[in-house]
Amino acid sequence: MDTVLTRTGRLSPRDTAPVACSYVNPPLVRASTVLASSLSEWRERAALPPHDKPATNYGRFGTPTTQAFESAIAELEGAHRAICFPSGLAACTVSLLALAPPGSHVLMTDSVYWPVREFAEQTLTQLGCTVEFFTEIDAAGIARRFRPNTAVVYLESPGSLTFEVCDVDQISARCRAAGIRVVMDNTWATPVLFRPLEHGVDVSVQSATKYICGHSDCILGVAACNASAWREVATMATRFGQTASPDDLYQGLRGLRTLGVRMRQHGASAVTLAHWLAARPEVMQVCSPVMERHPGHAAWKRLYDGASGVFSFVLRPMPEPMLARFFDGLEVFGIGLSWGGFESLVVPVPSGDTLAMRLTEGRGQLVRIAAGLEAVDDLVQDLQRGFDAMNDASSFAMAARAA
Ligand SMILES: *Cc1c(COP(=O)(O)O)cnc(C)c1O
Repeated sequence: MDTVLTRTGRLSPRDTAPVACSYVNPPLVRASTVLASSLSEWRERAALPPHDKPATNYGRFGTPTTQAFESAIAELEGAHRAICFPSGLAACTVSLLALAPPGSHVLMTDSVYWPVREFAEQTLTQLGCTVEFFTEIDAAGIARRFRPNTAVVYLESPGSLTFEVCDVDQISARCRAAGIRVVMDNTWATPVLFRPLEHGVDVSVQSATKYICGHSDCILGVAACNASAWREVATMATRFGQTASPDDLYQGLRGLRTLGVRMRQHGASAVTLAHWLAARPEVMQVCSPVMERHPGHAAWKRLYDGASGVFSFVLRPMPEPMLARFFDGLEVFGIGLSWGGFESLVVPVPSGDTLAMRLTEGRGQLVRIAAGLEAVDDLVQDLQRGFDAMNDASSFAMAARAA
């Protein structure tokens, strides 16, 4: 994988004509209009179906930069082809639109990324789809929910709030037998740690905004598809005018080159932080499949090649000012959304009514943590600083305020 990451998605001299050199990085090509050299060439290109048009026809269908990124992702994910999107969310929603016809039944993991849940509940239902959320992460439990019109099972594994791990092999085997498509959000793992299509998934969607771009400076999505799903997803993407900026795609390609080494660092730091947090009296629970007590631990060990940097933990219930002292006391961790960049982040997860959230013991504050690339000792020290500030608040500041 490390060697592939450094070589994939380059272009042959033919692709970069008229400058026939072998550059290490593909050229960044921005375009709307692409000229044809003759009427016959024009007619030839125009005759192709939109999603089969060569990337050299019109900018919205992509440029050589798009081709380079999409072919790299297809290689890494073991896919027939990949399709880029202007955001991870667009990759998720357009894949669902493509594979869940009006009136069909869609099953979705309960811990799914919140905006995808909203899309399913608000938009798919407007199209006459029935959407059902499930918490079983085993195949038998999901198969019991199959209906004659079930079209798609949508997995997010591990779920990005409480990190449940689906038994992907078993689930996709049951789906295949029933003629149901499986779409899986692979953002947490990236193809470095997990390749969904090798486990029977039809479409692996990702927010390339996160680990692939890796530097918190662009928004990008991608769907890696097997041959049967590709035509449908590509057609829907074309119809909706989905495209991504060559500048962002270039950043995505650049991010891929260091993805392997970054993932190892993110994962190692996350493991250290998870164990350190688990030993703290302020922490009721650590939600990460790397923890032996986590319900997804066995499946994670069997399926994944390692851990990424994202997990969550539950702080015991406390008044808001005390919680604020923890967050505000952090100097290295930033407070913010997203993850996958080089910088460490924490964010409070609003207590919601999804079952995944209710599963967290008690009613403490769920905090999502993204381990960045800083020295792990500094990260541990920073959390210690947060806890010190928090505990200080409880003994002195709070007492002072009460007085
Ligand atoms: C961020 C995220 C998305 C959406 O990606 P954007 O690029 O922000 O649109 C989808 N799924 C998961 C799991 C994510 O973390």
